[in-house]
Amino acid sequence: MIDRLLGFFSWLFSKLAFWNKPKPYTTIFVEDCLPDNLKPKALYVVHEHGTFEQAAMLCPCTCGQILHMNLLQDERPCWKVTHHSDGTASLHPSVWRQKGCKSHFWFRNGQVIWSAER
Ligand SMILES: [Zn+2]
Repeated sequence: MIDRLLGFFSWLFSKLAFWNKPKPYTTIFVEDCLPDNLKPKALYVVHEHGTFEQAAMLCPCTCGQILHMNLLQDERPCWKVTHHSDGTASLHPSVWRQKGCKSHFWFRNGQVIWSAER
């Protein structure tokens, strides 16, 4: 009886955890240049002639700054973007603003994971 009850609760909690998960960022591919206004909760990937040049997003801390991540391997610093089958993307390494809000986060599967390091 207790086993069944525990089983039921773990099932319930897994459902709740799923519902509470924030909606992932959508990945938007744009050619050549970024639009003037970026949508929140969107990762923009700029490509030209099939080459990913940069990724950009509004800072997730809501400070309103646009974060630019260079994707060209021969320039530093440089990030790697991975696209997943569910339509989300991941960035590597973490994004760390050295000025302003000093946001430091990982971007994985369309989710912002804040780093404790600041
Ligand atoms: Zn910020």
